[in-house]
Amino acid sequence: MVYAHMSELKNYLLDILFPRRCLGCGILLDEEVPSHVCRPCLNSISFAKSFACAFCRSPVKNGRTCPFCIKDNFLDRLLVATSYENPLTEKMLKIMKYRFVASLASDIAELMTQYLKNGVAARLNLDPKSLLVTPVPLHFKRLNWRGFNQAEIIARQLSNYFDWDFAANTLKRAKNKKPQADMPDRYSRIKNVQNIFKFNPAHQHGKSIDGPLTDKTVVLVDDISTTGSTLNDCARALKGAGAKEVIGFVFARNKI
Ligand SMILES: [Zn+2]
Ligand SMILES: [Zn+2]
Repeated sequence: MVYAHMSELKNYLLDILFPRRCLGCGILLDEEVPSHVCRPCLNSISFAKSFACAFCRSPVKNGRTCPFCIKDNFLDRLLVATSYENPLTEKMLKIMKYRFVASLASDIAELMTQYLKNGVAARLNLDPKSLLVTPVPLHFKRLNWRGFNQAEIIARQLSNYFDWDFAANTLKRAKNKKPQADMPDRYSRIKNVQNIFKFNPAHQHGKSIDGPLTDKTVVLVDDISTTGSTLNDCARALKGAGAKEVIGFVFARNKI
């Protein structure tokens, strides 16, 4: 067996030492299935049926930022696939982040794909030719420590499924800020992520190495959004590079 990454070897060894149990119901999972959640538990996660403004959370149409918040912000829409209220959702996100379980990112990507496929993509009237899917980047130090960027795994899987253009490195993180989860309150979370993302002019998408993002609609992928400030700071950088519209797309949204 050839292991492309040390993390794969590590996961293989962990599977031998600790047989995988479903994070939802605890049943023993088949060795052949890379997932950490059984099919019935994955299917028990329900999709969001309504949309809320990325910033003030008032009800809006098709995820569009409300007329008040759009005046001071850059993110045009926010799509949230599911709700954080299901305890399994929270567990999947936490274990993916802090215990380096990359296969959970695939499960999450699959659910996010289904959410878009179940009518949301059609409602937004997206033009596949002008779409670019890109992840919120991690700082390289945290990437090395964790071994993967879960947002990149999700973004890549989405773009493969829908056959949309994908770029892993459209954005660069300028400074290594503290993880948002460590911030004590909403105000410090917002201050923690202002002007920290930059457009990466050497990014690659499709077949060409491109400069600006003129006329592109960017689908900006992350696992979770709290205040919307990370997505908004990325949207500022993407629009500075010419993007026409920036649509944030996350798995879940936690409480403020
Ligand atoms: Zn289960
Ligand atoms: Zn609003």
